[in-house]
Amino acid sequence: MSTTPATSTSTTSTSRTVTLITGGNKGIGFETARQLSALGHLVYIGSRDAERGEKAAAELGVRSVQLDVTDDASVAAALASIDAAEGRLDVLVHNAGVLETGFDTAAALRTFDTNAVGIVRVTEAALPLLARSANPNVVTVSSSMGSFWAVNNPERAESRAPLQLYAASKSAATMLTVQYAKTHPGIKFNALEPGTTATDMTAAFGIGRPVQDSARVVVRLATLGADGPTGTLQDENGELAW
Ligand code: NAP
Repeated sequence: MSTTPATSTSTTSTSRTVTLITGGNKGIGFETARQLSALGHLVYIGSRDAERGEKAAAELGVRSVQLDVTDDASVAAALASIDAAEGRLDVLVHNAGVLETGFDTAAALRTFDTNAVGIVRVTEAALPLLARSANPNVVTVSSSMGSFWAVNNPERAESRAPLQLYAASKSAATMLTVQYAKTHPGIKFNALEPGTTATDMTAAFGIGRPVQDSARVVVRLATLGADGPTGTLQDENGELAW
C-alpha cells in the first residue's frame, strides 16, 4: 500500500516533536491532531482511507499517511514513510477504534483486530523509530469501559452499558499498554479514557461532550515530559482505577 504525505511544510522535522495519531481523520483523533499541531508538533494523521486522510490533513495543515491498523503491510508502509521523512517518531497516539454493538464471532474478530491487535501492529512497527527519540511517548486512547473497576461499580454508567466486545477489547488495549510499559522502560506507555464524547462512534446513543474537551485529555498525556509516568490508566481527573 502506498503512503501519501498530503502536505509538506518548510520547517525541518528535527526541531519539532514528530507525532503520529492513528484514526486521525475524524473525531477525537482529528481534534487531537489540531491541538498538538497548535502546540508545535509535526503531526501525521493515520487514516485507513487515504482520501479521507488527505482531506482532513489539508483542513488541519498537518501530514497524512495511509494507515489501516488491521493491515500489516499498510502499517509497515506508513511507519517506513515517516522514518524516511523524519528519521524518528516521538509521540504515537493509538486512537483508531471501532465500537460494534453486535455480538458474534465476526464482530469479535473485527473489534479485537482493530482495538487490540492494531495496537500491537502499530507499536511493533513504531518501536525502531521511537528508539531514536529523546522522549518517546506512546498514548493509547482506551476506555473506562475496559476498566474492571468501572464496569463492576453500580454507581458508574459503565456498569449498565451492554458493550461486551468493545469493553473486552479495551481491557486488552489497557493491558497491552501496561505490558509494553514493563517491557520497554525507556518509553512511556499510558492509556486513557477521554470522556464520553459526541463523535460518529457515539452518534447512535446521542451522548457525549465536544471533542475539544476530550482531546485535551489525550494532549495532556501526549505532551508528558521525560520524567512523566508510565504504565498508567488515566482520565481527565488523573489516574483511573483498573
Ligand atoms: P470516531 O469518530 O468513530 O473515530 C474513529 C477513528 O478510528 C476514525 O478515524 C476511523 O476511521 C478510525 N478507524 C477505525 N478503524 C480503523 C482502522 N482499521 N484503521 C485505521 N483507522 C481506523 O470515534 P471517536 O469517538 O473519535 O474514537 C476515537 C477513540 O476514542 C477510539 O479508540 C474510541 O474507542 C475511543 N473512545 C471514544 C469515546 C467516546 O465517547 N467517543 C469514549 C471512550 C473512548 P474511518 O473514518 O475510516 O472510519
